Amino acid sequence: RTVPGELKWAASPSEGGWEEVSIMDEKNIPIRTYQVCNVLEPNQNNWLRTDWIPRSGAQRVYVEVKFTLRDCNSLPGVTGTCKETFNLYYHESNEDRESYIKENSFIKVDTVAADESFTQVDVGDRIMKLNTEVRDVKVTTRKGFYLAFQDVGACIALVSVRVFYKTCPLTVRNLATFPDTITGADTSSLVEVRGSCVNQSEEREEPKMYCGADGEWLVPIGGCLCNPGYEEKGGACKACSAGFYKAKSTDPGCAKCPPHSHSLRDGATVCDCHSGFFRADSDPPSMACTQPPSAPQQLISVVNETSVVLEWAPPHRLGGRSDTSYSLDTMGWECNVLFSPGQAGLKTTRVVVSELRAHTHYTFIVHARNGVSQASGAGAAQSVSVSVTTNQATPSPVSFIQATDVTRHSLSLSWQQPDRPNGVILEYEVKFYEKDQRERSYRIMRTFSRSVDVTGLNPLTVYVFHVRARTAAGYGEFSTPFEFSTNSGIHTAMFTVFIISRSYTTISHPPLHPSFSSLVSSPALASPTVAGVKIYVDPFTYEDPDQAIHEFAKEIDVSCIHIEKVIGMGEFGEVCSGRLRAQGKREIYVAIKSLKAGYSDKQRRDFLSEASIMGQFDHPNIIRLEGVVTRCKPLMIITEYMENGSLDAFLRKHDGQFTVIQLVGMLRGIASGMKYLSDMNYVHRDLAARNILVNSNLVCKVSDFGLSRVLEDDPEAAYTTRVRHIPIRWTAPEAIAYRKFTTASDVWSYGIVMWEVVSYGERPYWDMNNQDVIKAIEEGYRLPAPMDCPVVLHQLMLDCWERDRAERPTFSQILNMLDKLIRNPGTLRRTGGERYLNVALLDCDCVSVSITTFEGQHFTFKEV
Ligand code: AMP
Repeated sequence: RTVPGELKWAASPSEGGWEEVSIMDEKNIPIRTYQVCNVLEPNQNNWLRTDWIPRSGAQRVYVEVKFTLRDCNSLPGVTGTCKETFNLYYHESNEDRESYIKENSFIKVDTVAADESFTQVDVGDRIMKLNTEVRDVKVTTRKGFYLAFQDVGACIALVSVRVFYKTCPLTVRNLATFPDTITGADTSSLVEVRGSCVNQSEEREEPKMYCGADGEWLVPIGGCLCNPGYEEKGGACKACSAGFYKAKSTDPGCAKCPPHSHSLRDGATVCDCHSGFFRADSDPPSMACTQPPSAPQQLISVVNETSVVLEWAPPHRLGGRSDTSYSLDTMGWECNVLFSPGQAGLKTTRVVVSELRAHTHYTFIVHARNGVSQASGAGAAQSVSVSVTTNQATPSPVSFIQATDVTRHSLSLSWQQPDRPNGVILEYEVKFYEKDQRERSYRIMRTFSRSVDVTGLNPLTVYVFHVRARTAAGYGEFSTPFEFSTNSGIHTAMFTVFIISRSYTTISHPPLHPSFSSLVSSPALASPTVAGVKIYVDPFTYEDPDQAIHEFAKEIDVSCIHIEKVIGMGEFGEVCSGRLRAQGKREIYVAIKSLKAGYSDKQRRDFLSEASIMGQFDHPNIIRLEGVVTRCKPLMIITEYMENGSLDAFLRKHDGQFTVIQLVGMLRGIASGMKYLSDMNYVHRDLAARNILVNSNLVCKVSDFGLSRVLEDDPEAAYTTRVRHIPIRWTAPEAIAYRKFTTASDVWSYGIVMWEVVSYGERPYWDMNNQDVIKAIEEGYRLPAPMDCPVVLHQLMLDCWERDRAERPTFSQILNMLDKLIRNPGTLRRTGGERYLNVALLDCDCVSVSITTFEGQHFTFKEV
């Protein structure tokens, strides 16, 4: 209709076939038609081809043809040549200028006939019937296509040819926009289209829809939700107006601000609290803003000896919340006070505070808090306080009793002061009875000190002991029962003789004079491990390490510890010094070992095991455990503070500055500690000067109970990689070779410590490597006497380094030997080059001793 001149579609033949003719339509408007009407001639083959039609992304195009067709019957004189159909063809092509019609490249779409829906068209003086036929065809391979109409002998006028494709139109469904989409190539194909969320919305579930071949959208899947602060209105997201809010995209719509809150601007996601009102982090935006509670009311206290019951009423104003809780504070220095049911986060309004000091003034503060106390900025809880004075109270029970120096008829008991003395302890009372007798008959002893020698006991009998303390307030409760057994005299004597004959005959090399043997069998030398003396318990035998730690170590409240400075680095973390002020005790200096963060279960166990071991010992030459902190982090082990640090470093710092007697004094301390450990059946395994600590009075104490467990007694393991953990230079050959760790191997290490002490911290075997050391020892080499070393001391070292462990002295014998040296300093004077053994000093109870030197000379010492 819109082409003003000729269309000039290609026609074949160019003359006598299809012809372009202008006619008037029914409204008398000129239109262009193509006509052909060669009904009288046979074998017609007239082609008419459109111009090139760009495809424009379409995959299936529709061709609507309007035409008129003369009924053959209405034509006078036509024979069999007249037709009433024409053929529709198409041909896909990238070429928009194919100059002639390539009939062979066209594909037939259909044969088109006039159907019954003829419309009557009045053309001039004729009435014509206008047909409308639509065909569709898939065009997917080229940029465009041509259509062609083949006439085979009909009388036709093409009035209009309309070519179109179908789209599913742009639409918004479930807040997702779907663009105008061209339908698929086949009549059954669906095109999947992904929608995009409209402004101010976010995807709930991927929005999708299918476009059908007829240009209709199918049911939408998924969709979007309006962002917080926006709600859906007419397929778009609109901001919430002032006074309203929407917190989450899934909320159905904007809601009115909850009580005590407001929103001033459009698009609020949360409403702000009115001033003086707050919202806790965990409060939902839909919740009203609230206030902290007022102070608790009517606090009353009832004192019962060293306990106080505190009771109060809830605050007058709860601030619109139901999560009020209470916490308690005491004013002033307090440790180990018990709050029941607790000190903070309380829901009840009653607390019992116990384990307070007797006769002491306390102020208790009860705070009320709720979820917005923190947020209210003041941070402060509302509180009320009360002051009380505790009554006098009896001491708490003694928790631990120990027995030492057990003989056939006596033993020495010692114990620690009660945890809460509640005043000055005036006296201790010891009650004891034979276990078999129960409490039918018992004896009582009283003492001012924390120890007592109990005599007049029967041999080999188990006794039960209880101790209680008395203050001005009276007696406290008795301790739990502790059982100890007296010795069998026969057993002790036999044991002593055994040791003397096995060990000291070798030290003195020549055979002992018979009188010597009988002299040394006196009980003075005997200190075997016997029933009744406490035996060390390996904490690793406990399934639960916490059970062991609480059995052997006291839990210290961390508030009682003041850390001052870092003094060293241990295997598990820093070692600090500081002060400990336990309740009822004077402040003391302590060392604090802590377990560094990020530890494994095993590290925790190993770390605490040292405390579980140490806590079982009580001896002036063993480092004392004050307690542990296990209830809060970091975990800590608190021990007494040793001002001069480890012995090796201390000696190196003071090279040559001590007298021999001072050095022997140090060695004596170490031997005494080791004797105690061996009596308890404890094998140290890592005795070395670096593991001895020195205090300001030059007292040496054995420490470092970490290695005792690292090496297991598995003979196979000796040659595995773990052997590298063994401190080779300090370790006896049988312990290196097949892990035979015994008190005798500790004695070997002790010999090395002696050498380290006398040489002022020299490294044993200097710069020899470990393999050479093992080899040299195997071949009989032993460390020579350090410079100025008394012969007796070097000899004692050599004794400790006997290959056969049964030949080494016991710690008890070493201790006696050193005691004698201290009492007879003259014997220490002989140094270097001496070849005689000074065995005469083995026992000072001797009346006379005869010895033979290696050279066969005889000596007799009288009244030594
Ligand atoms: P340890 O982990 O026991 O080997 O301790 C590491 C270092 O901390 C030691 O070598 C000492 O220098 C120091 N140390 C450990 N315990 C104490 C203590 N009780 N008093 C003073 N210093 C200590």
